[in-house]
Amino acid sequence: MPEARIIDGRAIAAELRERVAAAAARLRNTHRITPGLAAVLVGDDPASQVYVRSKARACSAAGLASFEHRLSADAGLPAVLELVAKLNADERVDGILVQLPLPRDVEARAVIAAIDPAKDVDGFHPINVGRLWSGGAGLVPCTPQGILLLLRAAEVPLAGAQAVVLGRSGIVGKPVAALLVAADCTVTIVHSKSRDLSVICRRADILVAAIGHPHMVKADWLKPGAAIIDVGINRAASERASRLVGDVDFAAARRVAGAITPVPGGVGPMTIACLLRNTLLAACRRRGLSDPAGL
Ligand code: NDP
Repeated sequence: MPEARIIDGRAIAAELRERVAAAAARLRNTHRITPGLAAVLVGDDPASQVYVRSKARACSAAGLASFEHRLSADAGLPAVLELVAKLNADERVDGILVQLPLPRDVEARAVIAAIDPAKDVDGFHPINVGRLWSGGAGLVPCTPQGILLLLRAAEVPLAGAQAVVLGRSGIVGKPVAALLVAADCTVTIVHSKSRDLSVICRRADILVAAIGHPHMVKADWLKPGAAIIDVGINRAASERASRLVGDVDFAAARRVAGAITPVPGGVGPMTIACLLRNTLLAACRRRGLSDPAGL
């Protein structure tokens, strides 16, 4: 069997970012609007700082404004809620992103619920979660949206396909399952209490792995020719340094699958591109403008 085709997330994300930049330029020229993304960082988690910086860089490359707000790790819930209220009222801000994880005493659920759903570019607010499942036009979480765009870009047939989602988190597993159902797949969600994981996975025409265990999905879990989307980002120690690996045993899976995303360079780049896309959509929808063409 020939090796699986690689679904190149970097190239697909770069194209999406170009389309976002073009739509942002049209919005600026026609309506004098520059969409703005506000990132809230609480504490000094090094990984979160890197993420927030790279999101700001991506905004600037696409012609979007970005605003960074930092609070100390001991700021507490009331200070975070006060900042969110200020950003909800700020006309320059179309998207609000609260970088997770938050310090232990700042309840993420309360912070997310305080964000104006129209500015909730992460798509985690209960109103947007409800819209996702009920088919309304809400803001969709970025990683799941990126996965659907990857499948579409790779021309993977969706209608009637058996899709298995490994993982049921509110950030990836559940929303990607909702999107696959909406795309007419037959969807099974499995998690840490599921039995016969490998048997269920072998039925999948499309397998989305989002569990956070390096190389847990083996080649003999896969249906020959299946499309494999590896969401996992895990640090694995190699001889020289630590490197990033996915939840799927990529080298072996490639000999069985029909198409597969690499880690890094698969789902990851789509997440930021979809954040830019959501900021642009939020900027248009808040002002009663229709969604830009080509997104
Ligand atoms: P969570 O830890 O929130 O969820 C993991 C899910 O996997 C849970 O539903 C859990 O089940 C399930 N699970 C864990 N162990 C097993 C097991 N042995 N067998 C079956 N199911 C299992 O993780 P996230 O959803 O946030 O992230 C998943 C992975 O995706 C991580 O590696 C993360 O780094 C990566 N990620 C990548 C992104 C990207 O942009 N590429 C964005 C977001 C995440 P249960 O519910 O029963 O505990």
